[in-house]
Amino acid sequence: MPVADYAQYCEMLDRARQGRFAYPAINVTSLTTANAVLKGLADSKSDGIIQVSTGGGSFASGAGVKDMALGAISIAEHVHRAAERYPIYVALHTDHCQADKLDTFVEPLVKETERRRAAGQPNLFSGHMFDGSALPLKENLDIAVTLLERFKKSQLILEIEVGVVGGEEDGVRASAAAKLYTTPEDTLEAARRLHAGSGARYLLAATFGNVHGVYKPGQVKLKPSILKDCQDAVVAAFGEAARFYLVFHGGSGSELRDIHEALDYGVVKMNVDTDMQYAFTRVIADHCFRNFDGVLRVDGDVGNKKAYDPRAYLAAAEKAMAARVVRATTELRSAGTTMMH
Ligand SMILES: [Zn+2]
Repeated sequence: MPVADYAQYCEMLDRARQGRFAYPAINVTSLTTANAVLKGLADSKSDGIIQVSTGGGSFASGAGVKDMALGAISIAEHVHRAAERYPIYVALHTDHCQADKLDTFVEPLVKETERRRAAGQPNLFSGHMFDGSALPLKENLDIAVTLLERFKKSQLILEIEVGVVGGEEDGVRASAAAKLYTTPEDTLEAARRLHAGSGARYLLAATFGNVHGVYKPGQVKLKPSILKDCQDAVVAAFGEAARFYLVFHGGSGSELRDIHEALDYGVVKMNVDTDMQYAFTRVIADHCFRNFDGVLRVDGDVGNKKAYDPRAYLAAAEKAMAARVVRATTELRSAGTTMMH
């Protein structure tokens, strides 16, 4: 199917919240990883979300160019074309964008969507994340409100973050003193500011001890009940229509019972990056170890072209990542729920 349009994406999110499942939102950095996600979603009959980070966009633009917006556009254009070959819906997002990168990442991407819409074409992306979690709440929400007003005009969905996801992503490390647990007061304030006069769709990454990356068991203390407290507070204050669409960041390596509890409280999008990176690289390592004297020209030998052709191991990596996507849709209960039926 083509990339989900605004109405279809809203329907996806509604169905997820109502059905207590979430879509995997998988970071991609190349055609190969994007194709892996499409294949995995199709295999599991799940709709889903493909997303590009600032670092992923920079990488995709080429090491000599390092233009994060350019790389994100290239990946998105590929997904628009390739998604038509798969019987599922996919939405396109961008991941964490801190305030100091808005001008060089989100801004040119929104401009591109505005240009396309003026020409009668579909949006480039379905939504963008603004991560103002390192700012004081008021500044975070001031920027979010401005973005929401602009996004609304182009049917773009805004994702914000209140509280701080621990760990490190894309080289950005959360401070040790960061607020790893959101409070209902903070999310209420977000709801108040973002609903004031607008009514546009937004997604909320509320933190409950989640951490980017994967850590050994026992290192991460998740408290999904915080999400329930935030939902109860917002519904009590502003009514059912204000109930959040929540995003679970730093989901890689989480215990299944914590994931399911979070889904029960309205998580509709779960970002999965680290586990996908591992699934992809794992089989490449395997290929290289098994074919050591094929991928390398050892002791004056000539190696084996079939082994060192990048397609040999990238196709295997694509397949392994697609299988990991299938597993993610099972864990998130989105398998078999595609709107294609
Ligand atoms: Zn994140």
